[in-house]
Amino acid sequence: MAEDSSTAYSHGYTESAERHIPAVQHEGTPAEVERLADLVRDAHSVVALTGAGISVPSGIPDFRSAGSGLWSKVDPMQVAHIDAFRSDPVVFWRFYGERFATLDSKLPNGAHDALVEMERSGMLDGVITQNVDMLHRKAGTRELVEVHGSIASCSCPACGGSVALEEARGRIVGDPDGMPRCEQCAGPLKPDVVLFGEMLPPDALERACELCQAADVLLCIGSSLEVHPVAGLPLLTRRSGGAVAIVTTGPTPLDDIADVRLRGDVVGEMQALLAALAGA
Ligand code: ZN
Repeated sequence: MAEDSSTAYSHGYTESAERHIPAVQHEGTPAEVERLADLVRDAHSVVALTGAGISVPSGIPDFRSAGSGLWSKVDPMQVAHIDAFRSDPVVFWRFYGERFATLDSKLPNGAHDALVEMERSGMLDGVITQNVDMLHRKAGTRELVEVHGSIASCSCPACGGSVALEEARGRIVGDPDGMPRCEQCAGPLKPDVVLFGEMLPPDALERACELCQAADVLLCIGSSLEVHPVAGLPLLTRRSGGAVAIVTTGPTPLDDIADVRLRGDVVGEMQALLAALAGA
């Protein structure tokens, strides 16, 4: 595993000795894609870790970057916070009901599909995602760890009753306050996503840690790697001797330890990886 920053694969954005490398590097040079393909081919276990950036080409804006749509009108840290749900679930659902409807209509893109193809050909052991949008499920990923939960269901914090997304959406439409209610106790249902201020589900986090520790290659796609504890997962891979590849347009705090760093559009980069793997 080359940790040496003087290899031909360093991206030229860091202050390094190699002044001959142009300051502006082509996005996702074929050499870097080829190097990633080599790492994947040589690995016993490859695991993907995905964040909001993989869903942007599907029309789901990343609320961390200044954007359009839903997130420009509200502060997600306030409205998607567990305290907001607890203090005024009707107001919470005014926002979240719209989010449900928006996400439910979105479709997976070529980056999601590339991961499905890799899994089907035995090159990928699983996908860990920070996304709640169900796009990996829709694409057909089998081994999926949704560390922030998903919009696939809602449950009742009071009595534990659970309903699927479609049923929850029906109840939103049918309720005078636009809030899905529990059939048993009539209390407000909560989406089975990890809201701000909530802990991650321990089982999912444990599974994610296991996968990352066992991975020879951790393929981080579309994640800014800033949200803990998920941001610490690549370090688990590194500590057990694995390689870390980061595929995302924006900077991440782990860019300096990445064995491969691809900065192009996630769909383009993942399709290029798939082509490089097929061309072996
Ligand atoms: Zn209930």
